[in-house]
Amino acid sequence: MNAVLGQCAQCEHVWPVAHLPMPVESFVKLAMRAACPKCAGTQVKVASVGRPSIEDTPRPGEIECK
Ligand SMILES: [Zn+2]
Repeated sequence: MNAVLGQCAQCEHVWPVAHLPMPVESFVKLAMRAACPKCAGTQVKVASVGRPSIEDTPRPGEIECK
């Protein structure tokens, strides 16, 4: 399963914000409401899209999305 990983701009915590495939409408709602589960920060940036195994802790070089 693919996932969209979000990264907190405040504490840099990374977590799966949404799972794909899902309707764009649902994704937008999730993305709009996304908040860091660690520090409750609301400044979230997309860290990665389409990682097959979200359970693995992403290494710094792997979460850059260009
Ligand atoms: Zn945070």
